[in-house]
Amino acid sequence: MSVYKVILLAVDLSSESKQLADKTRDLAAANNAELHLIHVIEPLSFAYGGDVPMDLTTIQEQLDEHAHSKLQRFAEQLDYPVKAQHVVTGHTETEIHRMAKAVDAGLIIVGSHGRHGLALLLGSTANGVLHGATCDVLAVRVRESEADEADATEDADAGPS
Ligand code: AMP
Repeated sequence: MSVYKVILLAVDLSSESKQLADKTRDLAAANNAELHLIHVIEPLSFAYGGDVPMDLTTIQEQLDEHAHSKLQRFAEQLDYPVKAQHVVTGHTETEIHRMAKAVDAGLIIVGSHGRHGLALLLGSTANGVLHGATCDVLAVRVRESEADEADATEDADAGPS
């Protein structure tokens, strides 16, 4: 029986996204679900406000292009058909909620570091997505050490920059 017809996977495109990929593939296959991917780019103006006396458009466009190609590579390695890849600009949680509604997702999948202490008080993307979601949310526990190892391998592969 298919519980989730449409699944939305939110990826930050860091090396730990690989850990989300494995669970998502299994869940999507078990439900024969339509799978959508989303990556949100926070506008540089969010970080720098209106205080930067320069035009950030070109840098923003480059970030956008880079995200598109990274998401494309992620989708190719997923080993499950992806209905659509969405790269959007805005506030991460808001855009994930907006996209979940737009594609009528029954499930949003996000990574969670299982933070505690101050980091928990300050919140996380997984928390933000959970609050305000109108569908189910699965927070997949991400193991930092695995992500760090993958980062190190990726850095080594890339060589000196
Ligand atoms: P964080 O709490 O920011 O470390 O992120 C945890 C999870 O939130 C990630 O594994 C993704 O599932 C999701 N996430 C974080 N940032 C983004 C982003 N920019 N676009 C899409 N999903 C994101």
